[in-house]
Amino acid sequence: MEAIGERIQGLAAERPHHTALIDDHGSVSWRGLVSLANRIANRLRAEGLKEGDTVALLSENRIDAVALYLGTLVAGGCTVPLSGMASEDSLALMINDCAARFVFVSEKNLPLLDAMAGKLDNLTRESCIGLGTDDGGTLTSLTQWLGNIGSEAHPAKVTLDHPFNIIYSSGTTGTPKGILHDYRFRQRQMVRMSRFGLDGNAVNLVSTPLYSNTTLVSMLPTLFYGGTLILMARFDARRFLELAEHHRVTHAMLVPVQYQRILADPEFDRFDLSSFQLKLCTSAPLRAEVIRDAMARWPGNIREVYGLTEGGISTCLDCAAHPDKWDSVGVPTEGAEVRVIDEQGNELPRGETGEIVGRAISMMRGYVNRDDQTREMLWTSAEGLVFYRSGDMGRVDEDGFVYILDRRKDMIISGGFNIYAVDLENVLLAHPVVADAAVIGIPSEQWGETPLGLVVLEPSSKGSEPSEAELLDWANDQLGKAQRLAAIEFRPDLPRSAIGKVLKRELRAPYWS
Ligand code: ATP
Repeated sequence: MEAIGERIQGLAAERPHHTALIDDHGSVSWRGLVSLANRIANRLRAEGLKEGDTVALLSENRIDAVALYLGTLVAGGCTVPLSGMASEDSLALMINDCAARFVFVSEKNLPLLDAMAGKLDNLTRESCIGLGTDDGGTLTSLTQWLGNIGSEAHPAKVTLDHPFNIIYSSGTTGTPKGILHDYRFRQRQMVRMSRFGLDGNAVNLVSTPLYSNTTLVSMLPTLFYGGTLILMARFDARRFLELAEHHRVTHAMLVPVQYQRILADPEFDRFDLSSFQLKLCTSAPLRAEVIRDAMARWPGNIREVYGLTEGGISTCLDCAAHPDKWDSVGVPTEGAEVRVIDEQGNELPRGETGEIVGRAISMMRGYVNRDDQTREMLWTSAEGLVFYRSGDMGRVDEDGFVYILDRRKDMIISGGFNIYAVDLENVLLAHPVVADAAVIGIPSEQWGETPLGLVVLEPSSKGSEPSEAELLDWANDQLGKAQRLAAIEFRPDLPRSAIGKVLKRELRAPYWS
């Protein structure tokens, strides 16, 4: 299989006028995109970029950001997409950790770059280039930086072991770690995703951010096979529906909270979404109730994917084929295997709950500069096979379907009994006035830890909502004795990461400090 930097050269010749990218400001054809990517690659090399060097990208989804991603790969560099939601300290830590040679920053993120002044080890202001900053800003703009460099194609010849990208974990469980993926990882993933129709005919609406693996998993195959990407800089449910109808979108990778917001749009049923072939979902649990609603009202199947940015664990649920398994995350994908282990690392029989471990054809090369943590992730079976530890608690049913209950660190241990937040959250979410819910463990003198429910009410319930005590009684009536909630607190909203994960560490902190 060709490397993507070589592959796109063929696309420029085969489908020069086919639309490659559309964003809020315009569109670009395959010929235009490849020409821009080649110019970026040629300039990076002229400025001294060596194969394997890292190039950081701090930008929302936009055409030039995707061109930079591709241009870095054409030059043989390693891309490092970063989050504009991160603090300047955490961003400086990541940029220093991966030893970025260049940083490309969109106009919106310039204040972050300014705030990092003096914190970047090896970067000068000249190595920082602005996207969308042709308005006399202080930073060299991409157009100025490219100057009159040519678009001749010199794609780097890379091996499967060559670094492709580094993705920093979102830090929902601690300090961000740089996850290094090579070409082998990405090529295998692209082939797998192309089986879902993410190919040259796909019109893929990208509404999750570029720095998340979720986005890359769906975006890269569309690019590799020459399809069309519609890029949303910021997710908005109504805008998503308008773009999907207007561009006859065939595919989208979404996180659960996006499904909920899209389906809750009062105008949802007015939009023609008949072009959809498949929607993918990953990142957090997709509730059966949301799947039921989406399957009834939104054309095209849903496939829920479970995995880690690190790779090694990969399952998929075909929602149309298995309506009786919507609470699960499906079965291991081709070439993948899932097992369950106890706290001591002993393998558990099927049906029992423990930590999910997995192995798959695509696994990261390791955490950047953190060999110890890379080793800690591994579990070796009695036959000597190496698995990745997911940090998730779950089980596998008699048909081989995998169920995720909780992150191990979020599990509540109350009086020696393990409580999985998802069981309690599902009860709360079934109440008609509950719009969102999270359950966390708080200190308890009697039990060590005890569950607390944090609930967001439906705005329409105002005036008729139950009291916290009434909702607590209602929920506890349906829960086992050892699972009962100690209290419920109403909240205006729940803190979530940019890809929709509830930040439980943040919710827990005030109770444990
Ligand atoms: P960190 O490792 O810092 O917490 P992160 O949350 O960004 O960062 P990811 O690799 O993006 O890490 O997320 C992997 C985790 O997301 C899994 O371990 C699991 O907890 C959760 N997850 C992913 N897909 C699903 C799914 N389909 N259903 C339930 N949970 C999921």
